[in-house]
Amino acid sequence: MQSIPTAIPFVDLTPQHQPIQAQIDRAIRTVMERGDYVLGQAVVEFEQAFAAACGASFGVGVACGTDAIALGLQACGIGNGDEVILPANTFVATLIGVLRTGAIPILVDCDPKTALLDLVAAENVITPRTRAIVPVHLYGQMVSPTLLRDLANTYGLLIFEDAAQAHLAQREGYKAGSVGMAAAFSFYPSKNLGALGDGGMVVTQDEAIATKLRSLRNYGAPRKYFHTDYGTNSRLDSMQAAVLGVKLPYLNEWNRDRRQIAEQYNALLKPLHSKGLLPIQNQSGKGHVYHLYVLRAFQNTLLGETPCQINRDALQAHLDTQGIQTGIHYPLPCHLQPAFKNLGYRVGDFPIAEALCQEIISLPMYPGLTEEHVIQVMGAIEEALATPSAIQLSA
Ligand SMILES: *Cc1c(COP(=O)(O)O)cnc(C)c1O
Repeated sequence: MQSIPTAIPFVDLTPQHQPIQAQIDRAIRTVMERGDYVLGQAVVEFEQAFAAACGASFGVGVACGTDAIALGLQACGIGNGDEVILPANTFVATLIGVLRTGAIPILVDCDPKTALLDLVAAENVITPRTRAIVPVHLYGQMVSPTLLRDLANTYGLLIFEDAAQAHLAQREGYKAGSVGMAAAFSFYPSKNLGALGDGGMVVTQDEAIATKLRSLRNYGAPRKYFHTDYGTNSRLDSMQAAVLGVKLPYLNEWNRDRRQIAEQYNALLKPLHSKGLLPIQNQSGKGHVYHLYVLRAFQNTLLGETPCQINRDALQAHLDTQGIQTGIHYPLPCHLQPAFKNLGYRVGDFPIAEALCQEIISLPMYPGLTEEHVIQVMGAIEEALATPSAIQLSA
């Protein structure tokens, strides 16, 4: 039997949690002893600490990132009939969050180099009903804050950031969460800052928005049994807040680790650029927090790139046989999801987003991934490119 090389998972949270296990245990026990499980002290403390880390004045903890988008937009006054611009190339939760407010989502294509919302395309769809723009800081890189703010100022748009993949990311002197009116974060376990379950937060500079959110997440009641808003039950658990509070001080270090891993991938990938295999471009230097490390195996050479001899699916299948887990973020763009057929979009509406879906692959990325692992992953990719036809046939 052939020996199987060390399996490399796509994400492993053990290296992150193991060294701080005792601290986490203590934080959880403290909540149990106090008994303030819902909207307790740990939530208040973590809201303040996380907002401060993002350069924002207020933080309001909610049940998940999707709720942070939906309730956050609602607290900003977005609702029925408002047009809201967002990228087609994002996780579907961005679209769900917008739809839940009653607003009309207006999707736009992305920049082929960075896979981020294309601000020129965004400008082209602005109408008198456009109220807001939701930039998604995808893969850990922010949409340019200066260009975004120029556009928003010119047309009087509200900026609401989807920062679910960009905890502590920076660009042009701005931190993710401090660019617009408010921003949504997710603490899903595999995000750069993850809970031991679901969690989310909205951060904002505006006290009135924070106050509105505290009501919306708690049955629309600014005080007990008195309801001024059609709210819901969406709160960050005290247990999760306590765990997140323990993890937050390590976040910068973990992000640095991700960046270092990305640099190792980048260096080993350079010789393969001429073979049509390139990383999604980093235009924000050390401000990129690499939630994901995404490669592109060019097939649709709209801009004249060299086509890659191996297609993405075959490459992924080969890595899988080598015990290397990868991901696709995302395989089907929002506008082509069956659930949103009624929005009326069609194949061909967003050619860049559609091409990316066929060509991108996310490599293993997590704090604690070793350089040996990176070398092993890149070795397997080089092997696939050396004998592409054999691998393509067996895939
Ligand atoms: C994870 C994610 C969300 C949703 O967060 P949940 O906590 O899973 O609801 C929204 N937008 C983006 C870009 C995400 O990556």
